Amino acid sequence: MNDAMITFGPVASRRLGNSLGINNIRPKVCTYSCVYCQVGRTLQMEIEPRHFFEPPEIHARTARRLAALTSQGGVVDCLTFVPDGEPTLDSRMGEAIEQLQALGIKIGVITNGSLLWRPEVRQAVAKAQWVSVKVDSVDPRCWRRINRPHPKLRLEEVLQGIEAFARDFTGELVTETMLVAGLNDKPDNIRAVADFLAKIQPARAYLAAPIRPPAEKWVRTPDESVMAAAHHLFTEKLAQVEYLLGFEQSCAVVGDDLAEEILGITAVHPLREETVSSLLKARKNGRQILNELLKSKKLILVEYEGHRFLVRKLR
Ligand code: SF4
Repeated sequence: MNDAMITFGPVASRRLGNSLGINNIRPKVCTYSCVYCQVGRTLQMEIEPRHFFEPPEIHARTARRLAALTSQGGVVDCLTFVPDGEPTLDSRMGEAIEQLQALGIKIGVITNGSLLWRPEVRQAVAKAQWVSVKVDSVDPRCWRRINRPHPKLRLEEVLQGIEAFARDFTGELVTETMLVAGLNDKPDNIRAVADFLAKIQPARAYLAAPIRPPAEKWVRTPDESVMAAAHHLFTEKLAQVEYLLGFEQSCAVVGDDLAEEILGITAVHPLREETVSSLLKARKNGRQILNELLKSKKLILVEYEGHRFLVRKLR
């Protein structure tokens, strides 16, 4: 296995600076199968946390990659668990976080929050310094339509788990609400989400829209006017509200195996064609390597909302 399968990036992110992604789950295992998921439809739905990678292996591969990056003058601001699925399905994530703390860099976890009703999951996630929790809807019908959760999950329990986590967590908690046209972008849904978020008091509530190719082709971005209304409704209840609509600004490529690097990044972040082109310019044979990835169908080009993206083919 290449290091790029467990770590990827860093990806420049407004929220986290230069974020080195940690992929602690095999693609694509999740508790949800969100209609807008940029990794595609969930291949394996699970709700029982289990073993994926050994924490020392995650630590060793991350440390190696960090060393490669810093030797090239790179800076990493955050090590972020943001895999091809739900990171809390990894029963040893808490151990992995503890071991990564030794690297002296902030640890972040981006979770859908669906397993936070389990005390052991809350304990593991609480070891991170920064946590993002997804709350797209607090209405069970709407939640089932947009997040398509594992049938054994109950929204009431999920929301109680998020509240319990927020009560005890001492780090920075932020939330992410993805709005999909015609599904959860009505004022009533947005107001109800804002009311729930007001109870957990996130440091910042992000409003997102599906700007990358979604799992389901029919998914549409709400109009700008709807996004503006949502922002207004959120700010009535919450102190800090921001959009999360930007495409990746830049990403660093390190190491000799450019193909693995690109596959590592595109496993989690579809890349705009022009972003990849600018990366390839600096690399010998870059264009040829990309063409080979496309020819072998490891990567495919898709169009969405007027942009061309390179995405990983899952099957
Ligand atoms: S968006 Fe996140 S929570 Fe939803 S299916 Fe994709 S990986 Fe799972």
